[in-house]
Amino acid sequence: KSGFITIIGRPNVGKSTFMNRVIGQKIAIMSDKAQTTRNKIQGVLTTEDAQLIFIDTPGIHKPKHRLGDFMVNVAESTLNEVDAVLFMINAKEGYGKGDQYILDRLQKVNSPIFLIINKIDLVHPDELLALIDQYKDKCKFEEIIPISALEGNNVNHLVDVLKSHI
Ligand code: GDP
Ligand code: MG
Repeated sequence: KSGFITIIGRPNVGKSTFMNRVIGQKIAIMSDKAQTTRNKIQGVLTTEDAQLIFIDTPGIHKPKHRLGDFMVNVAESTLNEVDAVLFMINAKEGYGKGDQYILDRLQKVNSPIFLIINKIDLVHPDELLALIDQYKDKCKFEEIIPISALEGNNVNHLVDVLKSHI
């Protein structure tokens, strides 16, 4: 079996780092500069029982100029065409205006949406629980999964969950 999975979220939450962690190669460009990922980049994870095709997108944010507009459209156009949407947030930054902009767009999406709380290596477990509490009713999430893309925590679990959903 195989499935398409798109990764969305504000710039710098760690989408490309996650993609590289999962695929195990430096295919997506990573940087601490926002908007490094200008277009869709796909990576394929092939295991014994499944094939997961990940799509790394430019960060979704309110467009400020024409190129920004184009990048946001690229990210949004993938949402209804995939088997799962990973909405990634930064555990350290918490909830912000930029996240609400994305949550508003997710209301119209039919694909199952997973809330991925990344960078858990940077927060205390209590902060993480508070964040989960704050987010859990903001959208109909299939599941909420905390990870550290940088250190690899819980990434294998996330892959297993995705496999069971395709
Ligand atoms: P993107 O814009 O969402 O694709 O974000 P990137 O993958 O380019 O990552 C932005 C920055 O966050 C980089 O400096 C990464 O090293 C850092 N980063 C990504 N994931 C983690 C994580 O799990 N923990 C920590 N501490 N840093 C992370
Ligand atoms: Mg990126």
